[in-house]
Amino acid sequence: MNQHKKTAIVVGAGIAGASICLALKKRGIQTILIDSDSGPAEHASGNPIGVVYPFLTKHKTAESEFSLQAFIYFLSIWKNLKLGTLVPHKDGIYFLIDKEESFDRYSHALRSHQILSHIASENDEPISGIRAIFFPEGKSLSPKDLTKQILNITNPKTKYNCKLVSWNELENGEILCQTTDGQLPCDYLFLSQGYQFEDDPKSKWLPLKKVRGQILQIPEQNPTNTHGILYGDYLTAPLQGYQVLGATYDEFKLEEETRLEESESMWEGLIQKLPTLVSGWNLPNVRLFPTRVSYRTQSQDRGPIVGKLPDISKIDLSIKYQNRLKKDGKEIKIPYFEQVGILNGLGSRGLTHSLYAAEILVSSIFKEPDIVSERIFKYLQPDRFLFRMWKRDQLT
Ligand SMILES: Cc1cc2nc3c(=O)[nH]c(=O)nc-3n(C[C@H](O)[C@H](O)[C@H](O)COP(=O)(O)OP(=O)(O)OC[C@H]3O[C@@H](n4cnc5c(N)ncnc54)[C@H](O)[C@@H]3O)c2cc1C
Repeated sequence: MNQHKKTAIVVGAGIAGASICLALKKRGIQTILIDSDSGPAEHASGNPIGVVYPFLTKHKTAESEFSLQAFIYFLSIWKNLKLGTLVPHKDGIYFLIDKEESFDRYSHALRSHQILSHIASENDEPISGIRAIFFPEGKSLSPKDLTKQILNITNPKTKYNCKLVSWNELENGEILCQTTDGQLPCDYLFLSQGYQFEDDPKSKWLPLKKVRGQILQIPEQNPTNTHGILYGDYLTAPLQGYQVLGATYDEFKLEEETRLEESESMWEGLIQKLPTLVSGWNLPNVRLFPTRVSYRTQSQDRGPIVGKLPDISKIDLSIKYQNRLKKDGKEIKIPYFEQVGILNGLGSRGLTHSLYAAEILVSSIFKEPDIVSERIFKYLQPDRFLFRMWKRDQLT
């Protein structure tokens, strides 16, 4: 009998990596989590406060169905792991729908997705009186604390200051990782390096990009909103003496330095949108408040990338094979690294989506029965980009 206990290596200790560790823990897999930084959640997952709520579209799409299911899954984990007692947070998110197109989209979305009122309902935001969708269990929370608490509960073996440099699949099916801390063998490898995905030669073909975002930390005001308010930008509820105003978006210029003019323009946007709320606030110069710059990882179609990693070095691109496929009206066959999964491209919604995405990823690598519809599965799979590239003749 094979007594070998299966081992997984998870690369990246952000919310994605922590979520994968949780899914592996559920299955009793021995897990080593490595991160090139000195601790967890130092990058995109390190903002002081973020918001958790689902992204909805007017009609049911794979994107919105996934997001809604992910939000409901997040709430179940939140409750089961009693995260509410461990992670600083405030309940309640109002998504303002004062523009005609957002009203049209969101009010239809509630019906088309048959959303119950404990998840979302139409309600005016109480301070401004603006029409809104209210998510009573939506949250303003600390992403860093969320990541840390998930890791505390799952308790993987951790190796910080340890960077994955390269990895190879061996003939015996094992995977050998070359790290700055030496070689690490494993049975399963999970890649969740966020915007640093490009350092990995086997996944750098993925159409992902790094997108800069800046947030502003405002000292808690009195009186203030006790719930998060979204209106394009977002103002979180206060936690531990601060509230966060976020977030800017720039996919072209990526410098780490603070842009003071961005702080000011977010602030002006808030005054315009919520004058009743901020009129009594005493904030003489927002340029003096702390900011944080971090980077989202966004895929070409803005969907998350969740699934078994294709091995593009083994794709048969010979003219003979390609011509035969086209003649037979068949699609290209994609080879995979069967024991290597990727979770990336979480964009601006990693807090809401990562736990569910990790559960889908791990269950599919372990060949368990499907937990999502084929439509959602295909929407998430990394190979969707290869099929598109192949159809456009961009692979040959
Ligand atoms: C400004 C801003 C505001 C946001 N606000 C929200 C919000 O309100 N709600 C929401 O849901 N989402 C929000 N997001 C998105 C969310 O923060 C991200 O989707 C999420 O944090 C991504 O997590 P991750 O684990 O994929 O990446 P990261 O947190 O960046 O983690 C990747 C980790 O991999 C490690 N790593 C990289 N390369 C290697 C290597 N070779 N070896 C070892 N380790 C490696 C890094 O050190 C890092 O710790 C926001 C993002 C930004 C930028």
